[in-house]
Amino acid sequence: REQTDPVLLLEEINVSFDGFNALTNLSMRIGVGELRCVIGPNGAGKTTLMDVITGKTRPRSGRAWYDQSTDLTALEPADIARRGIGRKFQKPTVFEALTVFENLEIAQKGDKSVWGTLRAVLNGEQRDRIDEMLTLLRLGGERHRRAGLLSHGQKQFLEIGMLLVQEPHLLLLDEPAAGMTDAETEYTAELFRTLAGKHSLMVVEHDMGFVETIADRVTVLHQGQVLAEGSLREVQANEQVIDVYLGR
Ligand code: ADP
Repeated sequence: REQTDPVLLLEEINVSFDGFNALTNLSMRIGVGELRCVIGPNGAGKTTLMDVITGKTRPRSGRAWYDQSTDLTALEPADIARRGIGRKFQKPTVFEALTVFENLEIAQKGDKSVWGTLRAVLNGEQRDRIDEMLTLLRLGGERHRRAGLLSHGQKQFLEIGMLLVQEPHLLLLDEPAAGMTDAETEYTAELFRTLAGKHSLMVVEHDMGFVETIADRVTVLHQGQVLAEGSLREVQANEQVIDVYLGR
């Protein structure tokens, strides 16, 4: 696989909380269109890494270059989101009282105030986009259903859809397959493979079976540092990873 330009280039990121180093000289490169999995034991720094990229946490030092030109460490979270970086937390957050369609409508308007959004009328093109999304997410039959009545997996798909209608460039996903049925996990993998290329994805995941089916490359974090990087097979064969991560 040819190396593409980096969508994200992290250079020696340091984050500390009251003297505790959550990330230490962390450098990492994710190519445009790549699907990268980030794994590592609890406390390794995976959440902190996503917090730095989305502007929630400002590093003490280091740079986070987005599209080779923008330093994310200098921007506010809302600005970063506007520039096309979407994040999905582990727990689905949808508007439970609204229908599936309305949830996507709000997301597309990019207006989190429900009233502001429902007053606005979508044009035909925007409606088509939502219809496409419903089909892609296998939620076509649920469009008028209240989101609160969906299964856990369907809520996860809906939230992914809410990110996708905003046409993000880079998507950060925290354990997207957690709590899904086997069939839903399988479809999530298929969906991510479809999205990669058009979008760049960074997925934090614990389920190694899932990682194996989706990842181009895997980054192993440990104690706030990159311990290993490569294909899942390569990192699983790495002695340090075996010692530290697999607890031998
Ligand atoms: P992971 O997501 O890999 O489980 P985190 O990024 O959540 O790891 O945490 C990395 C380390 O930083 C942990 O030891 C955690 O306790 C610490 N940490 C994270 N956020 C804070 C915070 N706001 N204040 C103090 N310590 C924190």
